[in-house]
Amino acid sequence: MLFDLAKQLSSRENEGLRRHRLILESPQYSHVTIAGREYLAFCSNDYLGLANHPELVEAVCDGARQYGVGAGASHLISGHSSAHHALESALASFTGFPQALLFSTGYMANAGVVTALIDRGDAVFADKLNHASLNDAVLHSRVKLIRYPHLDLAALERRLAMSPARRKLVMTDAVFSMDGDMAPVVGLLALCDKYDAWLLLDDAHGFGVLGRQGRGVVSHFNISSSRIIYMATLGKAAGVFGAFVAAQAEIIETLIQSARSYIYTTATPPLLSHALLRSLTLIEQEEWRRERLSQLIVQLRQGLQSLRWKLMPSATPIQPLIIGRNDEALQLSEALRERNILVPAIRPPTVPQGTARLRISLSALHSMEDVDQLTAALRELESNS
Ligand SMILES: *Cc1c(COP(=O)(O)O)cnc(C)c1O
Repeated sequence: MLFDLAKQLSSRENEGLRRHRLILESPQYSHVTIAGREYLAFCSNDYLGLANHPELVEAVCDGARQYGVGAGASHLISGHSSAHHALESALASFTGFPQALLFSTGYMANAGVVTALIDRGDAVFADKLNHASLNDAVLHSRVKLIRYPHLDLAALERRLAMSPARRKLVMTDAVFSMDGDMAPVVGLLALCDKYDAWLLLDDAHGFGVLGRQGRGVVSHFNISSSRIIYMATLGKAAGVFGAFVAAQAEIIETLIQSARSYIYTTATPPLLSHALLRSLTLIEQEEWRRERLSQLIVQLRQGLQSLRWKLMPSATPIQPLIIGRNDEALQLSEALRERNILVPAIRPPTVPQGTARLRISLSALHSMEDVDQLTAALRELESNS
């Protein structure tokens, strides 16, 4: 049996698909240390640069003194602390929903929503480029998954119109994690109204970045509806860890009663919720972080305009440069690394065949010089190749 695994692993290696983990010796930051060497990094989802913020480090220490280290139990037994509870209220009012519920991870939040709200005889409609956690959420349930081409409202409408399902749920990344583009949220909501469906918005990459004071995609599009089930993660722009769902009270109560990924797991350490309350204030008040991101996005796109490789159309901090072949994407990523710049090569199955890419992600802590360094290196590599 081990021999089988070794064979599988080596064919993965030959196809340029074997993944390796970097071992970071420093905090997440615009510059990171690996094996004693410093790199300029464009790989994290720490868009606002909060993951190593001194006030959050202090809040974690303070939280540990107040609540200890571990929650010790699941939320429904005795693990739900006043820190979790206060954060849920703050998240609900920040995002403009009646209630919010914390989950340990975004992966578990998506699984919880789908398994608690949807059952046999129901249907889930999903954009083809959705994050794996949304697809996997459906695997955990016994429900039919109906996928529609990326951003294609007309195709979704045909599928909704044909569906005899009792309950319908449309689910989408709000900002697509490997493409950086945004879902047509207003159009999706109109279809959900017309066909009486719920709309699950996965705002992992929009929360903290989009909308007024970083309130996310719902604020960005200035919409409000009892059909929306909003999910966002707290380990990306918020800089800490965890996730939450915000929605109508009946939905949240149903999740508490029956979402297995909520019920059968230990609550996250309350010290994280304590720090996240502080993070939420920084997100709300420090507009300069979002302004800096906007400047860097413009600068990067101008700097790479004339390259043979093209950036995908994206107005978010996720700026993928399409390379095409797996081995070429990998070689470029390695060549950048030799120049002390980290940009991950993203390959199938994470993205469709033939669209291997460098996923450049920007952070508010990058300087204009950092972005210049990246664009100069890419131009040089293009002229060498
Ligand atoms: C990262 C991500 C998740 C998972 O969130 P975690 O908290 O990391 O488990 C879910 N959806 C999308 C779109 C993501 O990018």
